[in-house]
Amino acid sequence: MAVDTEARAAAEVELALPWHEDLWAHMAGALNGDRVAHGLLFCGPGGVGKRRFAERTVAALLCRERDTQGEACGQCSGCRQRRAGTHPDISRLVPDEPGKRIKVDQVRRFAHALHLTSQYDSGRVGWIDPADALTVSAANSLLKTLEEPPAGCHILLITDRLSSLLPTIRSRCQQWRIPAASLDAARRWLATRDIPVDQTPDDRLRAPLAVIGAHETGLAEQITQWDQDLSRLLARRANPVAVAERAAQAERRPWVDWVYRRSADLLIACVAAEQDSPLDETATAAARRLGPVALQAWSRKVGAVAQNVEANADWRLMLESLFIDLSERVTEAGRT
Ligand SMILES: [Zn+2]
Repeated sequence: MAVDTEARAAAEVELALPWHEDLWAHMAGALNGDRVAHGLLFCGPGGVGKRRFAERTVAALLCRERDTQGEACGQCSGCRQRRAGTHPDISRLVPDEPGKRIKVDQVRRFAHALHLTSQYDSGRVGWIDPADALTVSAANSLLKTLEEPPAGCHILLITDRLSSLLPTIRSRCQQWRIPAASLDAARRWLATRDIPVDQTPDDRLRAPLAVIGAHETGLAEQITQWDQDLSRLLARRANPVAVAERAAQAERRPWVDWVYRRSADLLIACVAAEQDSPLDETATAAARRLGPVALQAWSRKVGAVAQNVEANADWRLMLESLFIDLSERVTEAGRT
């Protein structure tokens, strides 16, 4: 099968992080020499990409068209099933709920699954995450499987807290310590994801995935706030100048992405009952009162504002005019 490198890039490139490359070269060597240990323990500080490195390893182990750099093709049946979460040869041992412990009966079921015959000749893969969530008795019941894994089986354990693992578990696994990112690598990589890092202290930058996580959490909170503001404006319970003021303080790009989506959501809501609309009842009712003509006109204004996202114009004034316009249309629609 010919491997389209672009398709591979789209599918698997997220797993490859630039500060992992030296370590990955060792893994690629082990893969090529068929020397991958049967128990693999991925450790290192939080936010450096241990799970991506481990998932990249799983991808390589299960791919039927792996290249000489140890990279999965992203397209074979093994790769497609793994990405869809339906690969029959992967067993994942994780807590029932985040933060809970992994119990002994879960380990027994996991060990049993690993002993079943694999569907593909690449063998079975077990994934334990986080390994420090194993209770002592769960860890003890895992020892035998780690010591004598079924033929062709690989078990990957992931932990942020190596010292909380039983020494007997640690000694039965090959350790892969995932390095923190260099500041240069972290800055470059975060920049490609439009994550602003000027205010981020150096020690946090070295864990770039944690920086992304914090950014996304912050963004989710902001979006909730923007949605509430929009809803209140549409219900004529918010002052458009105050709404604009708050919006203007946000980073421009994510805000513009949001307002673009919401102007489209409002248009959809006024012409059709959409089951998974992100709009609340107030906003949906307002959209119906406004109607498509008014909403299309407002969408064009949103488009004009979006074009000025990089411009040096008075951003706050532009947003004021955008929200005053919407507010006037709402008042107008309320009159008729
Ligand atoms: Zn593949």
